[in-house]
Amino acid sequence: MARRFKLLGTGAGPGTPSFFCECPGCREALENPVYGRTRSGAMITSEDSNILVDTPPDLRVQLLREKINQIDYIFLTHWHYDHFGGLGELEYYVKLKRKERLPLYLPASAKNAFDDAFPNLTDVFRVESWKFGKRYFIGNLSITPLPACHGIETAGFLVESGTKRLAYFPDTAALPAETARSVAAVDWLIVDATFYGENWFPEAHMSVDQAINLGLAVNARQTVFTHLSIHYSRPVINEELTAVAVQHPGVLVGYDGMVFEL
Ligand SMILES: [Zn+2]
Ligand SMILES: [Zn+2]
Repeated sequence: MARRFKLLGTGAGPGTPSFFCECPGCREALENPVYGRTRSGAMITSEDSNILVDTPPDLRVQLLREKINQIDYIFLTHWHYDHFGGLGELEYYVKLKRKERLPLYLPASAKNAFDDAFPNLTDVFRVESWKFGKRYFIGNLSITPLPACHGIETAGFLVESGTKRLAYFPDTAALPAETARSVAAVDWLIVDATFYGENWFPEAHMSVDQAINLGLAVNARQTVFTHLSIHYSRPVINEELTAVAVQHPGVLVGYDGMVFEL
């Protein structure tokens, strides 16, 4: 069976289009949904197991769009609404179909927040905290949470499958030195490119230019933008974004549904 990593969503907190925005980027996505970006998340398929990375508020739409009807594990990068807000969407999947609790790995610091937010879902998830640097083996691949820079406790995940290595860091402001060493020379660095133009939240996110430079710094074979806000700073349409990427060898603009064969 194929092992693959699929981007379910590639947008920042409000998604694209944002209901409150009339910038050219949001107008473009309203007119042509192919340019839309649901909130950031991914699905890893390993042999017979489907592993969700984050459960954004758009989860139901994403699962229907990608025809995914089975989930075996969930790994959360961090406890921000745009990454956990879809957890409640899994209640009926677990109760009506799976019929046993779904393993949910989250930051240790988020355990209490989970209990507060979803007191009704304790029989839906088997909540465990992931550990930085620990390799979790599922099927024929491994997933390792590595520290990101995002204000609260946040991981990116290093996915290793045979000789292929993929690093997924949707929310980070650069990488701690140790993490940068761990992801050196990855095949794919899928990374926070929240801002186009000025980055007005440099403690938590990166810009498109910073993402390109981080890819060069860790010597990634390919660098893929995700968590794109499109209009937080200078609004951008797809053609312009792609024109920036193609100037840099190995740099790609991520999109909802993009697949990486592991
Ligand atoms: Zn975040
Ligand atoms: Zn986010």
